[in-house]
Amino acid sequence: MRIAEELGLRVSPRLRVVALTGAGISLESGVPIFRGEGSMWEIPEARRLASRAGPPWNTRGTWEYYEWRRGLVSRCKPNPAHYALAEMEEYFEDFCLITQNVDGLHSRAGSRRVLELHGSMWRGRCLECGRVIELPETPLKALPPLCACGRPLRPDVVQFGEPIDPAVLSSALAACRSAELFLVVGTSAVVYPAAQMPLIAIESGARAVEINPNPTPLTPFMSLSIRGRAAESLPRLWEELLSSASA
Ligand code: NAD
Repeated sequence: MRIAEELGLRVSPRLRVVALTGAGISLESGVPIFRGEGSMWEIPEARRLASRAGPPWNTRGTWEYYEWRRGLVSRCKPNPAHYALAEMEEYFEDFCLITQNVDGLHSRAGSRRVLELHGSMWRGRCLECGRVIELPETPLKALPPLCACGRPLRPDVVQFGEPIDPAVLSSALAACRSAELFLVVGTSAVVYPAAQMPLIAIESGARAVEINPNPTPLTPFMSLSIRGRAAESLPRLWEELLSSASA
């Protein structure tokens, strides 16, 4: 049976689709994840630099850690999973991409509207005047980089325990409540509020599909669990859905 039939969905550009991505989608691009095999903490340099990063996050130590991460990501390329999501945005009239990733790879793959729940490592934010500044170049000329007001910037990344931008969060929650198909790709589903989003969508009637080589706390709630790697499984799922599309 076709996946769309199995899920009880009629695939057309009018199907309302939400995708939630986590660090696992970027692993095959070469960006380390946070937990388990292939995690950042297996890299001694990352551990050493991360230990010197911390509040108020606008320090040289924090930026040395982020420059290491930014340099690493700048040498990585989006993979077929990122591209599949960019294609979905083109096809579906009402498509929402929510990511926990801060690496910018979705935008580099061509996704135009990305709700970045945890911000981006490619921007800085001023603790004094609140300006948000694009910082696309790495290495930066000076650490920490400075705001136009002369104060040091912090990375525009939501740290554990910090609140998510309320506008981003409310757009994401609204999308979850109206989704018909919800894709969960490469997240361990332990970081909140992201981990709750698939459940909100399911409670509101969405069919949910998880792509992850490992089970997660969300797995029991899924309509379909694909035990596979994102770069292979997501393009295959997309192709499958598209082949069953009605006009
Ligand atoms: P996580 O590191 O907690 O979990 C990664 C998940 O990806 C795991 O469930 C793992 O089984 C799965 N996975 C491993 N290989 C995969 C593959 N090839 N395809 C699909 N899935 C695969 O990641 P998280 O749930 O996103 O939470 C970590 C937090 O750390 C997030 O808040 C995020 O902001 C941050 N983070 C971001 C990046 C990034 O921007 N790329 C990298 C590391 C951490």
